[in-house]
Formats: sequence, C-alpha cells, structure tokens
Amino acid sequence: MANRSNLAVQCCRCRNKHTEADREPRPHRSISCVSELVCPRCGCTSYYDITPWYAWCWASGLIEMGPTKPGDSPDGAGAIVIARGGKAHLEAVMQAVARHGQGASEGKLLVPGVPEADLIGRDPVDVLREFVDWCAQSNGRRHRHGVVFGTQVEG
Ligand SMILES: [Zn+2]
Repeated sequence: MANRSNLAVQCCRCRNKHTEADREPRPHRSISCVSELVCPRCGCTSYYDITPWYAWCWASGLIEMGPTKPGDSPDGAGAIVIARGGKAHLEAVMQAVARHGQGASEGKLLVPGVPEADLIGRDPVDVLREFVDWCAQSNGRRHRHGVVFGTQVEG
C-alpha cells in the first residue's frame, strides 16, 4: 500500500520527479522551529501528486478517477477505462475535456453526448469511443503532462 514516504510527486517548478521520502527538510522561511520538505533538485516547496491514476466511464456517461478501476456494478455493467496519468495531471486534463454536470449532476464530470445518446438514437459506446479518440489526438503533447487517453491504457 502507498504511504506518505513513497508517494510519487513532481516538482511544480523544475519538473523533477521523486518521492516524498526524497524531499529534503529545510527550515521554514517565516516560522522558526518548523521545517518544510523541498525538491531535492531546486528547493521548491510546491509539488504535484503524480501517483498513477486512471479515469473510467460508466454507461451513464459519468467519469470517475482513482488508483484502481472499480469492479462491475450490481447490475453487471462495467466501467470502461478511458485514460491514465499522474493524479494531479489526470484531474486537470479531465476537468478541461469533460462536460461539467448541471443540476443533479452538479460537481460531476460527464463524457459529452453519452448521457443523451439514447434520446438521439445513437449508441452510447460509439459516442464514448469518438470522445476518447478525439482526446487521444493530443496524447504525447506537452500540455497533457503524460496523461494518455485510450480504451487500451489499462495495466
Ligand atoms: Zn524542483
């Protein structure tokens, strides 16, 4: 199991990747007797959590993220993994490409077009695939920070 010391992190300033245990204590600038953990390369205090995470989608179009894909729901429907990446970057990219739910879905992320696919006579799986293919066109681009879209990214 992951604990604080082997948490994978990336420096916000110099992009150095290391673990929480590699970070070096340094006396805090304004509070005496307190030390803060800094990047071993540049001394910056800010970092991203880059624990490997996945994003998956349910038949309803709901997108969820976490370290492992959940099992099938009680009715037998399974989630489809659509992307992977470091936690902080995956969350940021998903916020940018997904639809933000309104009303009852407030605060949730949805795959555009999937919730209403049935209403317009489209197969939700086709709509999902088009969305993932569209997102995958930017795989490997710098602004994606290693987040990769695809339905074969699991494992
Ligand atoms: Zn750094």
